Amino acid sequence: MTTLRFPDGSEVLYELTRKPVRNINLRVKEDGTLRISANSRVSVKRIEEFIISQQDFIRRATERLQNRRSESEITHDRLRWLGREYPVHVISSSRECAVLEQEEIRVFTRFPEPEHIRQLLRGFLADSFTQLCRELNDEVRSALISRGLTPPPTRISIKDMKSRWGSCSWAKGHISINFRLAAYPRETVLSVFWHEYAHYWHHDHSARFYAFLDAHYSEYHKWNSLLK
Ligand SMILES: [Zn+2]
Repeated sequence: MTTLRFPDGSEVLYELTRKPVRNINLRVKEDGTLRISANSRVSVKRIEEFIISQQDFIRRATERLQNRRSESEITHDRLRWLGREYPVHVISSSRECAVLEQEEIRVFTRFPEPEHIRQLLRGFLADSFTQLCRELNDEVRSALISRGLTPPPTRISIKDMKSRWGSCSWAKGHISINFRLAAYPRETVLSVFWHEYAHYWHHDHSARFYAFLDAHYSEYHKWNSLLK
């Protein structure tokens, strides 16, 4: 890792890899460091000038990644669930569980340490999100069937994914949904289901793919754009 200072005095860390690429490629990592690839003919001076010229882009990308992280991070005193943030209230009890009641998340436990509370909150999110995904999957399938289409048999798995909100492997009849979507509104999660089902009929992101989405879920763009 090399430290580079911008003209305004702020600094950034970057890691340079020499690869036979045409231009200089720059990628911002979640921790705010940069991965740079460039071919061996491009001088370090030229690379650093390029990084400096991209300062605005780097700042915006870092902010976006950090917002995404803080939205989905589980802390012990508040919880984002379906686009809303709920306060967490810990109640001393012999039960070990977290529930959503009266506009707050109530954690019942005998062990009120932050790490244990986070575990119970994660359990609540995992159970609730699994249940929600089942409902949304059924909702999309019934809508398709009612419009004369036949969706293929599908298994859903919920995963922690780094760079994708959903993915599908229709050859295997399988959809993966990113667990971090639990922080977003129900309609946004629904848009990811529609997106993956649309790929069964349209394999790319062509105009026909989006026309299919518009026809079946007219608010697709509005809700999916929260993920951009
Ligand atoms: Zn896609």
